[in-house]
Amino acid sequence: MCGIIGVSALHDAARVTYLGLYALQHRGQESAGIVSIDGAGQPHIHRGMGLVGEIFQEPQLKELVGDVAVGHTRYSTAGSSVLANAQPCLANYRGGALSLAHNGNLTNAVELRRELVEQGAIFQSSSDSEVIVHLIARSTQPDAEGQIREALSRIEGAYSLVITIGRTLYAIVDPRGFRPLVVGRLGDGIIIASETCALDLVGATLVRELKPGEFVRVSNGVVKNLTPLAEAPVSRCVFELVYFARPDSTIFGESVDRVRRELGRQLALEHPAPGAQVVFSVPDSSNAMALGFAEQSGLKLEHGLIRNHYVGRTFINPTQALRVAKVKIKFNPVREVIAGRSVVVVDDSLVRGTTSKGLVQMIRAAGAREVHLRLASPPITGPCHYGIDTPTEEELIAATHSREEIREFLGVESLGYLSLEGMLRAAGTKNAFCHACFSGQYPIPVPRSERRGRTPLPLATAPT
Ligand code: AMP
Repeated sequence: MCGIIGVSALHDAARVTYLGLYALQHRGQESAGIVSIDGAGQPHIHRGMGLVGEIFQEPQLKELVGDVAVGHTRYSTAGSSVLANAQPCLANYRGGALSLAHNGNLTNAVELRRELVEQGAIFQSSSDSEVIVHLIARSTQPDAEGQIREALSRIEGAYSLVITIGRTLYAIVDPRGFRPLVVGRLGDGIIIASETCALDLVGATLVRELKPGEFVRVSNGVVKNLTPLAEAPVSRCVFELVYFARPDSTIFGESVDRVRRELGRQLALEHPAPGAQVVFSVPDSSNAMALGFAEQSGLKLEHGLIRNHYVGRTFINPTQALRVAKVKIKFNPVREVIAGRSVVVVDDSLVRGTTSKGLVQMIRAAGAREVHLRLASPPITGPCHYGIDTPTEEELIAATHSREEIREFLGVESLGYLSLEGMLRAAGTKNAFCHACFSGQYPIPVPRSERRGRTPLPLATAPT
């Protein structure tokens, strides 16, 4: 998953982009980058591995001159975690400097890449996004808009994009609208970002959200709507609302916080925990859900787990061994809240089960009498092919084990997952959603070459 931002007609665009990337850090922590475009159309680039604050310091920002910029925070769904795959991509072609930042995942990248390589293309990275750059550069259309449009007609999957060609900024959301993209105004300038929290941080006001299939051109602070892409059934990613986006953002026309509270209320309706004495969240991703659960159930909400904020998201760590150690680094129980009580623990989702198992052990060690785990989304049974890093079925505990097996493995008295219907009810009626990872209903068929392997691991091998 990734965070993207594009800025037009703002003095020191790279600094605005840098601040915006801070707000989008949760969307990717492997690498970040900024390309700025100066008054002569010359690009300046800096990319690095790690967090935004580590990559950009004063000397780098000083070099990134210009009033147009694009930025990116990345964690990989296609291509490995190396600097070569950091974005934005930057290339020079006959139309001038072309930079591109992509959030999503292409489902036909392997085929397209093979075809391009056979035709002589030389790739700099293993990321699927570079395919789009090649397609634009190879297009026979006379102008930038036509070249982008031709490239988009070849790609399939999830893509929210910000692109600069020369000094012009373009923004696109794929026809199904998997990933969010919002437009804001700051003075005479325009900012396009994955989430509204990036607009808030830089003091921009939200103009509107791009609709599925929208294609806009921004130059000199003016947004022009171009002919939209060919229509397709809308499938907004429900997991953005469940887990990925920040709760202070509004995406898909919904307050993420409002949806999460409703997820918690629905969960309490579907899976109450009679006899429990207290409810708490696994901070921070399920704070709003635990609040909703408490409101609906009448149980007292307390802080039973404290999170160390100086540790990144556990998932982003590439090896399983490191992930396990990180559970303890990341969370510590509050004994006074837990000891001797029957507790309800609310989490947003269960993916591998690793975090929850470690947490349950901690909560028991802190003296809990009973642990009732409640999950504010249904069992995740399939990988995402549209940009979220839930890699292989073999790692998804619910893909290969029954609920009773999972309950036993986690060591809890009861386990309750929100139903698909309950989740969609909470997500609201404004949108049609992609829920493939929960339901197996993939809105875009995934070619065999793009699928990831499946060999279920026995539970005994799962780390504790
Ligand atoms: P686990 O079940 O141990 O794999 O971890 C589940 C936790 O990881 C959930 O509580 C979520 O907060 C978080 N999570 C869910 N999906 C993702 C994802 N795609 N990337 C990073 N973290 C995630």
